[in-house]
Amino acid sequence: MIVMQDGAEQSARENACTVLLVGGGHAHVAVLADWARHGLPPGVRGVLLTPERQLRYSGMVPGWLAGQHGAGDGLVDLAALAARAGAQLILDRCADLDPDARVVRTAQGGKIGFGIASFDTGGEGQGERLLGADPRLVEVRPIGAFVERLAMLRASGRALARVVVAGGGAGGVEIAFAIRNLRGAQPRPHVTLVTGSAGLLPGFAPGVRRRVASALAGQGVAVIAHSARFDGGALMAGGQSLEPVSLVIAATGSAAPAWVHASGIATDDAGFIAVDAQHRSTSHPHILAAGDIAARTDRPLAHSGVHAVFAGPVIAANLRKALAGKAPQAAYRPRRNSLYLINTGDGSAIASYGPFSAQGAWVLALKHRIDKAWIAKYAAIAAGV
Ligand SMILES: Cc1cc2nc3c(=O)[nH]c(=O)nc-3n(C[C@H](O)[C@H](O)[C@H](O)COP(=O)(O)OP(=O)(O)OC[C@H]3O[C@@H](n4cnc5c(N)ncnc54)[C@H](O)[C@@H]3O)c2cc1C
Repeated sequence: MIVMQDGAEQSARENACTVLLVGGGHAHVAVLADWARHGLPPGVRGVLLTPERQLRYSGMVPGWLAGQHGAGDGLVDLAALAARAGAQLILDRCADLDPDARVVRTAQGGKIGFGIASFDTGGEGQGERLLGADPRLVEVRPIGAFVERLAMLRASGRALARVVVAGGGAGGVEIAFAIRNLRGAQPRPHVTLVTGSAGLLPGFAPGVRRRVASALAGQGVAVIAHSARFDGGALMAGGQSLEPVSLVIAATGSAAPAWVHASGIATDDAGFIAVDAQHRSTSHPHILAAGDIAARTDRPLAHSGVHAVFAGPVIAANLRKALAGKAPQAAYRPRRNSLYLINTGDGSAIASYGPFSAQGAWVLALKHRIDKAWIAKYAAIAAGV
């Protein structure tokens, strides 16, 4: 028997009938929506283990910084969605996984047994590992904590006069634009974007990179194509000091949590859960994973929200199959190109779709429409409409 956090005992039979969702991420909201719409199969107990009642939609965070959205916008109410889905919500985080015994241990000391589990916990920040420790360093991941930290800094009147953003991917670029256009900041913050030697937006088409470079230059954001690192209390890049610096934001991609590697489940070289096209663990097929925590073994797949979102319905379909004792069949086959809409913070945005790019206020209007529709869809399901 497995003792639950609240002291209740969970029998082996109950464990076998438990489908455990670990992490209320961008993929699992689609699973909860599926359960809300179609119900859980009879006798199945659904559990969502996640530390916060709400999921912050990362795509709207730059818009919040730039004053285009309120702090309360861009949130999915996981608690309401879980209630509508008939799933038990446990507000805690996974700290340990035994994939053979089918048990998750939580940070607060609880144990949850399961028959089938799915992981969508996102990745962790790796700014401190890459740049070194410093009180001015703020990780962009987890995104909810980043928003709270920035809101606190602003409320405390701490000046964000000279900000360095580390990370040349789409997240870092959007944060740099957003800070430069920080709502209500007078004078506008001085922003430097440090991209590493790969430069701006590695993997994006030359036309997109050109547009972004030109927009950054036009807004007075300096770009340094070296790696940043703290050395003797000073932030350095390419052999020169970037001081004085009031805040350093690390948007340097996500790292795998240590408990994944420690669990013995198959991982890729970076420690993310190795999954097949059906998003099943390659070593433990009763475990599925999607979003940034997962690594596809059949093809490369970027860690980006769009893939987590599209993998969600696949996870939902495959969990249903697995609960019916059948082999999961749905595969997530990403389109050849993904649409990225990069908010430039000044009322405009840059669209990237494979080799194509476009720019203008209409691109930002399209981005807002897509983002708000995604949030509204889950709000409606949570409200039972
Ligand atoms: C500023 C910024 C802007 C971005 N904009 C875009 C964009 O426009 N488009 C795009 O495609 N991508 C974007 N991304 C990337 C995107 O944020 C991630 O790829 C996406 O959030 C990954 O989704 P996920 O479901 O894997 O994890 P997350 O969205 O991070 O969700 C993980 C969930 O799991 C919970 N959790 C975490 N740890 C645990 C644990 N140990 N146990 C239980 N629960 C846990 C968290 O609280 C959270 O609810 C952006 C990233 C940044 C930083």
